[in-house]
Amino acid sequence: MAHDFDLFVIGGGSAGVRCGRISAGHGARVAVAEERFWGGTCVNVGCVPKKIMVNAAEYGQWAQDAAAFGWSLDNHGHDWAKLAAARDREVARLSGIYSRLLQGAGVTTFDARARLVDAHTVEVGGQRVTAERILIATGGTPQRLDIPGAELALVSDDLFTLTALPRRVIIIGAGYIALEFACLLRGLGAEVEVLYRASQPLRGFDDDIRTAVVEAMTAQGIVMSPDVSPVRIARVDDHLMVTLSSNFMREADAVFFCTGRVPNTAGLGLEEAGVRGAAGGAIEVDEEHRTSQPHIYALGDVIDRVNLTPVATAAGHALADTLFGNRPRRPSYDNVASAVFTSPPIATVGLTEGEAAGNGPVDVYVTRFTPLRHTISGRPGRRTLMKLVVCQRTDRVLGAHMLGEDAAEIMQGIAIAIGMGATKADFDRTIGIHPTAAEEFVTLRTRAREAGVQAAAE
Ligand SMILES: Cc1cc2nc3c(=O)[nH]c(=O)nc-3n(C[C@H](O)[C@H](O)[C@H](O)COP(=O)(O)OP(=O)(O)OC[C@H]3O[C@@H](n4cnc5c(N)ncnc54)[C@H](O)[C@@H]3O)c2cc1C
Repeated sequence: MAHDFDLFVIGGGSAGVRCGRISAGHGARVAVAEERFWGGTCVNVGCVPKKIMVNAAEYGQWAQDAAAFGWSLDNHGHDWAKLAAARDREVARLSGIYSRLLQGAGVTTFDARARLVDAHTVEVGGQRVTAERILIATGGTPQRLDIPGAELALVSDDLFTLTALPRRVIIIGAGYIALEFACLLRGLGAEVEVLYRASQPLRGFDDDIRTAVVEAMTAQGIVMSPDVSPVRIARVDDHLMVTLSSNFMREADAVFFCTGRVPNTAGLGLEEAGVRGAAGGAIEVDEEHRTSQPHIYALGDVIDRVNLTPVATAAGHALADTLFGNRPRRPSYDNVASAVFTSPPIATVGLTEGEAAGNGPVDVYVTRFTPLRHTISGRPGRRTLMKLVVCQRTDRVLGAHMLGEDAAEIMQGIAIAIGMGATKADFDRTIGIHPTAAEEFVTLRTRAREAGVQAAAE
């Protein structure tokens, strides 16, 4: 039976738009449905608006630091409404580009929610269409804790609709979004406390980085409160009162749940289409992103593997090339570099010291220093940490980690080297660019310690 489309994509975010556009470029008849905003989380309530706000917070600090460099600037404070308008204009521009890109590629677009009716049929905008293949790229959504008063708290999406800076903010959670929000809101002038259940934030990151970011955030006046969780939120007059597991109370003007995201699979018709879900609502897929129905695929945040925009777009592109471009390939989930846009930022690629040491002996190189800009500015909490984890047996650099100015910009190049299997000798042979922080990655001569010797002996 002939279908209406060769490919129907549910979700017009990073993954869906890339897969739809490239598939159409290969000649496929493609439709994409988007229920909320073209470009998805990244463009509308994620990476892009967040980075604009991080930049806004950093500008305030640059303006203050300028005095130490001889500038005399009058700072009349921050205008939230002006920032919000500039951010929203840019987001609207980018979102428009995403939908125009699809239309330009000949993709049929639906501004509507889509739902699977059976294995080849999708209900969208009051009609039913059929497709030979279907891609589920519905992303994820912020999760709230199940405690009394949870509805009084905000989630990450809400940062981008606030009409003013809340004066006192409590952030619950210790993942990258929690720490980024804490730093940007602090940088814009709020009093911020971060409450988290664990003893250290940023689970999965290198331990030296986790310790250093707590130091950096504390130095800029953010209260970091580990080993605690909220048990209740209540409204009292014009503010919120948070009761903690320690029985202490905190007063705030805004409380953010940054407590993880769940895949968007509710009400999608997975059962009707015979698509199996995994634990936590994620869709189960094989190495080719095929679900339990071999002609239905899923990728991006909805499979809950590596939840980052470039991973979603790479996977979408690879699937389009595989299905319609006569170029079968799989995206690699190894050595994916990532950043946390705290102040200062963090960037990382490859294995942490703990992960690498679990596989055998490693040499660890670490440096900590105050970058030139801040030896002059005197701003507290801006010390840089850079670290390499090197396999003793092969000399290969297994991981690079940095907290410091421009970490994300620096790490992208390091990720190429590590992906190519660079050794410590390759790093040492490389001549640095002076004077930069980046040059420290190629001048780390003295081993700080070795680790994993015991793992090798076992
Ligand atoms: C605050 C925040 C900051 C982030 N910062 C970064 C960062 O700095 N760097 C980075 O790499 N990543 C970042 N991310 C993660 C990144 O945004 C996601 O990994 C990425 O957007 C995933 O793309 P996706 O296509 O899988 O899903 P999404 O971009 O979420 O797209 C899914 C789309 O599907 C639509 N949809 C859902 N259900 C349906 C339906 N039934 N019918 C029609 N449409 C539907 C949704 O409306 C959405 O637009 C951040 C995320 C957040 C929340």
